[in-house]
Amino acid sequence: MTNLHGRTALVTGSTSGIGLGIALSLAEAGADLILNGFGDAAAVIAQVQAFGGKVGHHPADVSDPAQLAELFAYAEHDFGGVDILVNNAGIQHVAAVEDFPVERWDSIIAINLSSVFHTTRLGLPGMKAKGWGRIVNIASVHGQVGSVGKAAYVAAKHGVIGLTKVVGLETAASNVTCNAICPGWVLTPLVQKQIDDRIARGIDPQQAQHDLLAEKQPSLEFVTPPQLGELVLFLCSDAGSQVRGAAWNIDGGWLAQ
Ligand code: NAD
Repeated sequence: MTNLHGRTALVTGSTSGIGLGIALSLAEAGADLILNGFGDAAAVIAQVQAFGGKVGHHPADVSDPAQLAELFAYAEHDFGGVDILVNNAGIQHVAAVEDFPVERWDSIIAINLSSVFHTTRLGLPGMKAKGWGRIVNIASVHGQVGSVGKAAYVAAKHGVIGLTKVVGLETAASNVTCNAICPGWVLTPLVQKQIDDRIARGIDPQQAQHDLLAEKQPSLEFVTPPQLGELVLFLCSDAGSQVRGAAWNIDGGWLAQ
């Protein structure tokens, strides 16, 4: 099992869904955790603290570079820096491109893409100075293929995979790695909203869930946050040290079609 005692992990958007699942896996492996995201942080901190490591929460809005600088200053001051950076915070909005609200486009690009650039530029110098680091970007199958109605999300996730390749190359001769993970459907609040839209159109809840999976994900099962957490642990392990600049699918077969 990967032993992350002595390492500090920052997971953006870890008050919910996939980010929380990844934070729990990292804490179970021994890492100290800096959580980030909106909502009730106290309950989430208690859950992660149950594994015995040091846990903090910083409420930075990842779309604001100044708040991200404050987050990294807090990490340096309270934790001695960030060894494992998981860029996970993300939002979705579904609309045809000609109807896409301009402010939703701007916020999706800022939260899902530009934040990854900012945390990477803020986090890399400390990792290089310590001679070890891991950057894991939670992209999506939508970093490799499109779907109707998701112009901003698909553009942002393709951008995340491009940025991952560049950082993977720029760090290739060091003990810092940078990779992306591309999940298919994971049943989190972000996806539940899309199921609820179908239910609102009069479709039975179980049928709505089945239809969502059947359109894209051949396994007809959701990927789970603990499965994503295990993949992050592998990328943090010595065995994962030659995986560099990759976009790793974990999608029930979505991208094999
Ligand atoms: P979620 O809505 O459950 O969680 C999103 C998290 O991001 C929350 O903690 C929220 O507080 C935080 N967040 C949102 N905006 C933020 C901001 N401006 N600043 C700081 N934190 C912010 O979503 P999820 O499904 O767990 O998605 C997590 C990541 O996984 C996203 O990047 C998403 O694109 C990606 N993803 C999700 C799926 C899926 O099927 N759920 C599939 C592929 C990729």
